[in-house]
Amino acid sequence: MAPRKKTPTKKKASSRKRGKQPMTNDIDYEGIVDDARQARSGQFMTLTVGQTQVRPLLYNSVKHGRKRLFAKQSRHFGVHATLRNIPCTGSGCPICALQTQTTDDDLQKRIRAGDKFLMAVVVRGEEGSRVQILPAPYGVWRGIMEVIENTKIYPDSLSPKKGFDFLITRTGTGLQTKYSINVVPDRSSVSPVGVIPDLDLLAHPSFDRDMDEVAEEVTEFLQL
Ligand SMILES: [Zn+2]
Repeated sequence: MAPRKKTPTKKKASSRKRGKQPMTNDIDYEGIVDDARQARSGQFMTLTVGQTQVRPLLYNSVKHGRKRLFAKQSRHFGVHATLRNIPCTGSGCPICALQTQTTDDDLQKRIRAGDKFLMAVVVRGEEGSRVQILPAPYGVWRGIMEVIENTKIYPDSLSPKKGFDFLITRTGTGLQTKYSINVVPDRSSVSPVGVIPDLDLLAHPSFDRDMDEVAEEVTEFLQL
């Protein structure tokens, strides 16, 4: 592989100043990102080990002109020394393209974008019924969708008056994390407190860095 041209910039210098950080496979980068999100906005929730009962809420999508349940967010977590939340731009993404720079499976997996499905929920058993944002990993999202898609057995599942809650059970931490999803069989009502944000906007916050430049920094950080 030909060495890539380095084009240092001010931004690059400032991120390099902090130096390389030790990399091990057992650091829960996504957990760290979630912690940061939660610290920035009380709206974001983290699924802790144990059971969490949630009621999904619909949001008004300006972009799609209708009510929606979730907004998909693709990010490159933990591939950069300081940027923990690099958006994946989909086809032509220069970070995704770095997978061809290595033959190491673990490294390729690490470079690949991770998906989160943002959903507005009310968490049962907490004070009030405030609206919170659940950044659901694929398995959680899939488990909830399987129930909602099954309109014969679970008709009107998203009704605020008589819809369903979901019980999310988390076991393990880091790479050993597993989730199982159960629908709560009794229908119930929900009266959310607070504004349900447009999740499309939350899922795609502005990112003012040049992606090619970021890709170069990732190359250096991961020593590709
Ligand atoms: Zn990407």
